[in-house]
Amino acid sequence: MLAPLVAPPVEHLTPHDLVTYFRCPHEMELVHAVHAQRVTGTLGPVRTPLDVIPLHHSPLFSPPLGEISVNEGRLDLFDDGDRLIYLDPGEDDIPMLFPPERMQIDPKFTNGQSTLTDPEWGFAGRPDLVVRRQDGVLFPVEYKETHLFGGYHQAHGRLFDTIQAIAECRLVHVTFGRRPAYGIVLYGDESGGGEHEGWVQIPYGDAEERWLKVAMDQVRQDRTRAPVPALRTCGSCEPNEEGLCRFAAARYEGPHHHQAFLATRRP
Ligand code: SF4
Repeated sequence: MLAPLVAPPVEHLTPHDLVTYFRCPHEMELVHAVHAQRVTGTLGPVRTPLDVIPLHHSPLFSPPLGEISVNEGRLDLFDDGDRLIYLDPGEDDIPMLFPPERMQIDPKFTNGQSTLTDPEWGFAGRPDLVVRRQDGVLFPVEYKETHLFGGYHQAHGRLFDTIQAIAECRLVHVTFGRRPAYGIVLYGDESGGGEHEGWVQIPYGDAEERWLKVAMDQVRQDRTRAPVPALRTCGSCEPNEEGLCRFAAARYEGPHHHQAFLATRRP
């Protein structure tokens, strides 16, 4: 008698995985292997073949960028009816944008639960904040404390932030049952005293949702997870700090190497 066919488990993904894959698929693979090591004590399997040919750029195509709204200065979140309904408990560097009377954490997240999950797509993650406006509109906010604003299009890292915002919109949609029309990335420039603050509103519609689904399918189907060596990304790649990458184009320089690199290009 034939044994029943069992479908292989769908690879679990997070917004951070998509961002990492977009930078370098091999980095994502190594991050997963290191995570498995923390849990089991043994470095997890790495699917990248030893004779892989490194790529010049990520195989993942860019998300739609048509209607992004770029704004300098402070993000105003203080209409009377605005409420904070989710705050990532694992982040301790988020500025206090809401006074206590405007915090109304959703009951789903008052019992120790902190992760937004999407069982249908095998997807989970934690935005920094989720805001509900008076008219019921919801949107996630991702806070980048160290990033300089200084013009949206000058900075290479913004595409990564766009991917993260789109992914978090999907998680907010599934968790709260209402699709956000946009996600916000807030650039705090804390080290610059807020001199270069700004925020970007990234739309989330059918095109962005489709992009996300196709991107996740592509990541899961990629059996190679090829490296994309580049000075600016290898310099801040955490598996590179551990000496795990055979393809690195630069020595590890620290987690803020990428921001330092951008600062040298500041207008
Ligand atoms: S060191 Fe560079 S090539 Fe290697 S995994 Fe990191 S980003 Fe990719």
